[in-house]
Amino acid sequence: MKQRKLALHWKIIIGIVLGVLLGIALIQFAWGKQFVVDWIKPFGTIFVNMLKLIAIPLIIVSLVKGIADLRDINQLSKMGLRTFFTYIVTTVFAISVGLIVVNVVKPGTFISDQTRTEMLGSFGGDVEKLSEAQQSVSASGPLQPLVDVVPENIFGAASSNGNMLQVIFFTILVGIGLVMLPEEKSAPITKIFDSGNELMLKIVDIIMTIAPYGVFALMTSLIAESPSSDIFVALGAYGLTVLIGLFIMTYLVYGALLKFYGGVNPIDFQKKLAPAQLVAFSTSSSAATLPVTMERVEEHIGVDKEVSSFVLPIGATINMDGTSLYQGIAAVFIAQVFGQDLSLTQQLTILLTATLASIGTAAVPGAGLLMLVIVLESIGVNPAGIALILAIDRPLDMCRTVTNVTGDATVAVLINKMTGRQLKPTATED
Ligand code: ASP
Repeated sequence: MKQRKLALHWKIIIGIVLGVLLGIALIQFAWGKQFVVDWIKPFGTIFVNMLKLIAIPLIIVSLVKGIADLRDINQLSKMGLRTFFTYIVTTVFAISVGLIVVNVVKPGTFISDQTRTEMLGSFGGDVEKLSEAQQSVSASGPLQPLVDVVPENIFGAASSNGNMLQVIFFTILVGIGLVMLPEEKSAPITKIFDSGNELMLKIVDIIMTIAPYGVFALMTSLIAESPSSDIFVALGAYGLTVLIGLFIMTYLVYGALLKFYGGVNPIDFQKKLAPAQLVAFSTSSSAATLPVTMERVEEHIGVDKEVSSFVLPIGATINMDGTSLYQGIAAVFIAQVFGQDLSLTQQLTILLTATLASIGTAAVPGAGLLMLVIVLESIGVNPAGIALILAIDRPLDMCRTVTNVTGDATVAVLINKMTGRQLKPTATED
């Protein structure tokens, strides 16, 4: 890595900027969009696929190694409880930030009746599909989510990235089994997982060398496929409200937590995490970003592997501060546009349902929007209102995914500290 002159995050930023510029240039031509879809987008897809490709193997090896290194089930349950508790606390913080910002800015009052009717008309059909998809999720009994965590076949579970929680469940079981075995029996397996972990992180390094090109292709295709800029103007106040909320959470709240509870310089932390944040931004998927997040947090920020390998995969699946913050803002915004004044009880209901909804949100693009249906229904706002925000969901998804990933990394630092560990001095800044 030393031979590189430009830090990785700068290369990725250049890729993003050039991708946006090329996208803007190409859509000026009638053939531009098709050209991007045929010749540029596939490279972005290849990059995302490569990241997804190693997500499951990386979780398996690093989590088994992490738990086996704890050498004691007591430590595992302590760490588990603390992790879960901290995740809930940061999520509640996030929704509170969102609710405060949206109640102060009141973006719903900026929408004219005409825009409202137009948006509801043109995106109504999409919302119906969304509601149907969501309803099939919530049609099952209350304990179904718990049942879903336990796979009946590990190979079946590991064959889809959507089953990450199932894979984590199985992996924790393997880790616990290893801890309970006598050392001479567990050592050979632990060693294999140990090398496997190093191997996976090396593969992440390799993939990251093509990251600037990957994000370049992703951004060009996003621009080529994005809706007209008029919509962005109409929804400007709402978009800005979400961005303000995400900014406060990502930089101020996490910054304060890192400084006062983690004993870490927040600027230094952000710099080291930047490549993961940029990949999150370009892919809109915290699951696809997970390998990069793990590499940054372990190798650059210096969190103990035992902690990061436990905290991060779980965080990627259940901790979505950016998503929950956005769900809070979106729910109140839609209510504002419909002229519904939400009472304090309704806002508290948002706090509760958005916490649960973000836990249930899959770490893939657009999943947060799907779960917004639950939040809206819980406060008696018509889910058809999602049509109002659909058009600009993708750029906001990109930004909330950055917050999601930053939140996981922040909690990893906090748990490292809470469990009496020091950050390791790290090798490189890049
Ligand atoms: N795209 C988000 C993520 O992967 C989830 C969402 O809010 O849609 O973290």
